[in-house]
Parts: sequence; C-alpha cells; structure tokens
Amino acid sequence: MIRRKIAAANWKMNTNLQEGIDLYKKLCGLTLADDVDIVICAPATHLYALSQIAGPEQVVLGAQNMSNEESGAFTGEVSGRMLTSIGVTYVVIGHSERRAYFAESDELLGLKLKTAFSHNLVPIFCCGEALDIRKNGTHVSHVISQIKGSFKNLSPDEVEKIVIAYEPIWAIGTGETASPEQAQEMHSEIRKHLTEAYGSTISNVVPILYGGSVKPANAREIFSKPDVDGGLVGGASLNADSFSAIINSFN
Ligand code: PEP
Repeated sequence: MIRRKIAAANWKMNTNLQEGIDLYKKLCGLTLADDVDIVICAPATHLYALSQIAGPEQVVLGAQNMSNEESGAFTGEVSGRMLTSIGVTYVVIGHSERRAYFAESDELLGLKLKTAFSHNLVPIFCCGEALDIRKNGTHVSHVISQIKGSFKNLSPDEVEKIVIAYEPIWAIGTGETASPEQAQEMHSEIRKHLTEAYGSTISNVVPILYGGSVKPANAREIFSKPDVDGGLVGGASLNADSFSAIINSFN
C-alpha cells in the first residue's frame, strides 16, 4: 500500500498578509516532486487571498484550527463551512499549542474532527507528549490515549481519511528533534493501534507525519523511516528555501 507523502507547513501566527502572499508565491514557483502533497496551513486571515493565487495542483491550503460548532453566536470562531467556501481542504486539529493555551481537550477535539469530516475537510490530528511524560517512559500510552479519546466517535470511513501528526511537545520550536528511531517507534505504535482498532486496510493508508523542529539537516533521515509519511513543519516552513529543501528530502 502506497501512502501519500505530505509536507505540511504550519505558519502559526506569523506573517502579515503581504508577507504570506510573497511566501506562498515563492512556494508555488518551486519545482516540486509530484508525489508529495504540500499543505500550507496559513493564518485564517490569509487563506482566501492565497486561494486566489494559481499554483501547482499538489499545493493545497489548510487552516490551523476550526470550531466544532456549525454557526451562530461563537464570536471569533471560524467554521468548517467558511473554510470550504474559500477552497481550504485541510485543517489542523489539536495542535499542542491549542491544547496548552486554549485548553482543548481530547473530547472537544473529537467534536472538531466530526465537524471537519461533515464539511469534507481533511483533519491533520496532532498528538504528542510533554518532556516529563517522555522521561517517565509513558509516552506511547499517553499518545494512544489522546488518539482513543478523540477518535471514539469516528466511523472507520472517517479514520481512513485522517492524517495524524505525531509532535512531541519537547521538540516543537525548541531546536530539539526526536531521533529518527524515536519517531519511528511512536509512528509504528500509532499504526499498530489503528490496525487493532480499525484493521490493516485502514491503518495502511493513514499518513502519519512527524513534527518537531524538522529542518533541511534532519528531514531526510526522519522521512526515511518506514512509518514516517512526511512532516508538519513550523519554523522552517516560514522560509521558502528551507521548506523546499524539506519537501525534497523524501527518498
Ligand atoms: C509545529 O508547529 O507543528 C512545529 C512542529 O513547529 P517547529 O517545526 O517549529 O518545531
């Protein structure tokens, strides 16, 4: 089973509109391997303008968050319907910064996943452990419990369409990266769980991305691991040259 390779950029709360447009145009102008999907998760304020810029087919847009609610009195929130109406195809759900600073629970993230699927958005579901959990050796059970907690109301058809990003919190924005072996260990445990819960036909097609200080110098080794299907890239995605080097790091 061949899984799609994905390089996803998480710009977080960076760039003003013009800077975002300039960066996106540079990315669209790069020579890209056509077996890699490039997902640009830009700030919500930029997505419509970026959707109007012509680019290669494999470059698509993602949001960094969305509401679990459909519509109504939820000041400041962005709905799935709003995102699909401007051509967004992916949405990051459960980034560790959302979990930490906005108290997003496994249960709430499960609702967001349902809402995303109801709008045909592809969720990039983030999971990952903090440093103390890694140090006490319970990182695998912690991550699997995040997945179980948020996936419990998903149908097998929905799980088949999800993208998972394993992002150890201690490696996000810190310059510290999980070793390729640490990434592979967790990715294979995640896939094992998916096999047990949903069967191998489904577990074999779910892309599992690694995130946490991916950069040109370490991407190739991480991406070479059998259960690593790409990366969710923060800091290094804000520079077209470094993101393009990462995109070109698939073997
Ligand atoms: C992220 O924001 O998802 C991320 C992995 O950031 P960084 O690459 O900067 O560690």
